[in-house]
Amino acid sequence: LGGSISRALQQMSNATIIDEKVLNECLNEITRALLQADVQFKLVRDMTTNIKKIVNLEDLAAGHNKRRIIQQAVFNELCKILDPGKPSFTLKKGKPSVVMFVGLQGSGKTTTCTKYAYHHQKKGWKPALVCADTFRAGAFDQLKQNATKAKIPFYGRHVLSESIRLNLYTESDPVKIAVDGVETFKKENCDLIIVDTSGRHKQEAALFEEMRQVSEATKPDLVIFVMDSSIGQAAFDQAQAFRQSVAVGAVIVTKMDGHAKGGGALSAVAATKSPVIFIGTGEHMDEFEVFDVKPFVSRLLGMGDLSGLVNKIQDVVPMDQQPELLQKLSEGQFTLRIMYEQFQNMLKMGPLGQVFSMLPGFSSEMMPQGREKESQAKFKRYMTMMDSMTDEGNTNPKIMTESRIMRIARGSGRLVHEVMEMLEEYKRLAKIFSKMKGLRIPKKGDMSSL
Ligand code: GDP
Ligand code: MG
Repeated sequence: LGGSISRALQQMSNATIIDEKVLNECLNEITRALLQADVQFKLVRDMTTNIKKIVNLEDLAAGHNKRRIIQQAVFNELCKILDPGKPSFTLKKGKPSVVMFVGLQGSGKTTTCTKYAYHHQKKGWKPALVCADTFRAGAFDQLKQNATKAKIPFYGRHVLSESIRLNLYTESDPVKIAVDGVETFKKENCDLIIVDTSGRHKQEAALFEEMRQVSEATKPDLVIFVMDSSIGQAAFDQAQAFRQSVAVGAVIVTKMDGHAKGGGALSAVAATKSPVIFIGTGEHMDEFEVFDVKPFVSRLLGMGDLSGLVNKIQDVVPMDQQPELLQKLSEGQFTLRIMYEQFQNMLKMGPLGQVFSMLPGFSSEMMPQGREKESQAKFKRYMTMMDSMTDEGNTNPKIMTESRIMRIARGSGRLVHEVMEMLEEYKRLAKIFSKMKGLRIPKKGDMSSL
């Protein structure tokens, strides 16, 4: 997608005369690319109409940044679609909240429930999982297995496949289990009670009726619609169908690690008028990212890819610092030293801060918008811990024993779990940067991709 959009923009900027015809051709090309990425037809059409209104042909003819002007307009419009104008309901730690997950079977609900619980557990919440899927025989076992691995309490019942076959299964069962589970965990002072539901029924109408009943009985504070990123154009209708039976308040898009570009996410937001809050990027518990609109759109447009990052580095990093940084990154090296330097840069909010905040998964958690002060405090905290590692003469984060973690905590006057959080942050960033390994570093002036 990124490729064809940048090609379209390239062709246009090569044109000597920018008239309506050239702009239309360019927009047609962009339309095609967005449709291929599963963005809903109506959204694309509205967007191109808007862009034509925004982009002034005279500006294009006069300026030499035609590509940038249009790309920026496309970027802004896509961001606008993904922003429903209201944040998802915020749950309060320490106060019991019920979160209900809905979505079709196979969308990744059960997996995502655990990821969501685990994510919050790491942040000090006390989550619990309730399996209200009585349709699939193995549903409870799957949830139990996931929950056990993450050390999260769970509730549910085995449903014998025999009773399903004999049609002994009654409509009220999932509702009763859900209510019992929620009550149980409220008594145990859990503050995040997550209800996993079924995604399939003999009849679709029965599934939606069951969702309505579970929701009515458990009174969730938040209903999360889980969507497989590869469902394509079906996203809008699917999301709307769920929204008609339960009050969907947020969306999680799964399987973003696959080939799907995730354009369906835009449709889901449009259909539910609720924001995407997380994306799933793999089968494992920690392959879960806080959703951030801008990096997502960059990725959708092929702007946030790693070669884009190289261009960006070459654009903003002082010349004398470029070769070393690029060399290290292309060797797949992301050392603690580099992390330290990047934190320093971010504290200064220097150009590199911008560069690194472009990366998917980087800006959202590390530098939430509007909470810059907190983020700065965090970087400083991380840096004192890294200093303490340097002091003891070993900066290799891969060699970590319990006693070493304790020494670092003591040396920096921080808590053990803070050291572990810092190391995890390092691991996460190192994983992102490991993808840069073997990257061809283009020479300046040889950048056709932006
Ligand atoms: P449910 O039927 O909605 O509960 O879906 P499951 O949680 O059982 O997931 C269905 C399949 O999708 C399982 O094989 C999961 O491991 C897989 N899955 C879920 N989320 C992701 C993801 O983000 N990435 C990948 N690659 N696989 C996922
Ligand atoms: Mg399931």
